[in-house]
Amino acid sequence: MTNVPVVSYARISADIRRDEHGVQDQHRLNRETAERHGWAVVHEYTDNDKSAAKADVVRDDFEAMLRALRAGELPDGTAVQGVVIVAEDRLARRPGDYERFVEAITYQDGRVFADARGTKDLYSEDTESMGLFGAVISKMEVRKMQRRMRRSHRTRAEQGLPVGGTRPFGWKPDRLTLDPEEARLVRQAVLDLIAGRSLHSITNQWRREGAKTSLGNEWTTPSLKLNVQNPRICGWREINGELVRDPAGNPVVGQWEPIVTPEQWMAVKNIFDARRGHYIHRDGRIGHILTPDFREPNYLLTGFLRCGRAKPDGSLCNTSLRVTHSKDCVQHIYICPGKTVGGCGGLGRRGDMVDLFISEAVLAKLEQVQLAASAAPAEWPGQAEYEGAKTRLEELRVQWTAGNITNELFFSTAPDLEKRIARLRTEAQGFTAATQRRQARSDTDITGIRRRWYLPEEEDGLPLTIKRSYIREALLAVIIYPSGKGRRKFNPDLLEPIWREG
Ligand SMILES: [Zn+2]
Repeated sequence: MTNVPVVSYARISADIRRDEHGVQDQHRLNRETAERHGWAVVHEYTDNDKSAAKADVVRDDFEAMLRALRAGELPDGTAVQGVVIVAEDRLARRPGDYERFVEAITYQDGRVFADARGTKDLYSEDTESMGLFGAVISKMEVRKMQRRMRRSHRTRAEQGLPVGGTRPFGWKPDRLTLDPEEARLVRQAVLDLIAGRSLHSITNQWRREGAKTSLGNEWTTPSLKLNVQNPRICGWREINGELVRDPAGNPVVGQWEPIVTPEQWMAVKNIFDARRGHYIHRDGRIGHILTPDFREPNYLLTGFLRCGRAKPDGSLCNTSLRVTHSKDCVQHIYICPGKTVGGCGGLGRRGDMVDLFISEAVLAKLEQVQLAASAAPAEWPGQAEYEGAKTRLEELRVQWTAGNITNELFFSTAPDLEKRIARLRTEAQGFTAATQRRQARSDTDITGIRRRWYLPEEEDGLPLTIKRSYIREALLAVIIYPSGKGRRKFNPDLLEPIWREG
């Protein structure tokens, strides 16, 4: 190993009797030790508790070093992968300090440690030969178990093996084979989410059908959300919010049976990410959001309808209609709100009839769109740039490893390339997800939609949120024109849908 960034630690204390090195001596010896192993000292920590050898003395630099070790970096972001000291007895004043040190340094894999006599493997199981550290480490059985578990999670993840913990919903206790019933639920949930159904609506259905989590609890919206966002469902694995990838940057594929395709999982992920403010266009650009329903409105066309009454100056009122009820009509009524709340208060229409005619118009549009949407999706336009950037980074790494280019050149070029690759990867995923959504739409059986459109949800009817997302996909708004004074026969010609382009 070369260029491993380590920190040097020095301490002067009244209870170190023999052969007292000064602080600068200790750091000089530490630098030599580091150099011998091919490491580089990136920071020096110094404590001097000679004058205050009380049990409660706070040694700031020791604590700062532990923080850096746990984080794997200095506060300024410089990586830290190990520690050099002159001798064990410089490290700590109390046995508890040794444990905290071992805990911090072994918090991640691959950390190095050395004193003037040589390196020590603090992950070692052979505590006998390690003197004081050995004694400390053997007292840390619990910690070691946790550490081993963390390491084995990472190792198993990289090998695509399932890890311990609660049985994942959708699989049998072996964690590899699908539980057909649970897997069916997850798959349907993913497809429904992609089609625009809300988490809330799916959770309600699961609860109605008596589905329970793998711990036997009732499903909630947050637990369902966690479940469908887990890349495990498409065969991938995530640790601390990052996909586990192989050296080439591709997600490691697990050995368990997947429930959905990576594209489907990405589509779902994209929907939730979109709600956090990103939305990725069909062509991969990031832009405004085609809002899925966050709350479930109670009426089919809430938010779509606009008042088409002319104002005195001749322009349209264009206020968004609201829902109201009147005692001589069982159905809801869409009305333009009063002047005090920004409307004209001069327009209203029977809700059931508006809903019916707009539903029919949207269904007809869907049939039209489906005919046109059978075309195969184009390839993502950024593919060549993405491959090129990956190749350049790989070449740079090879050249750097071979010593053909300077550290300066490597570290000034590689981070930009890595950022560009990450951005392109995100764009590619967005493109795939958008393609997937479009596919999901065009694959949908339109006659099935038409049949389910008017059924109650309990009888396999489409949930309101799905119907609304079809409407949203088809049109931007519907303008409702006034029908004249008094009660008149419903006239569909006074409804003007504003269709989306394309
Ligand atoms: Zn109005």
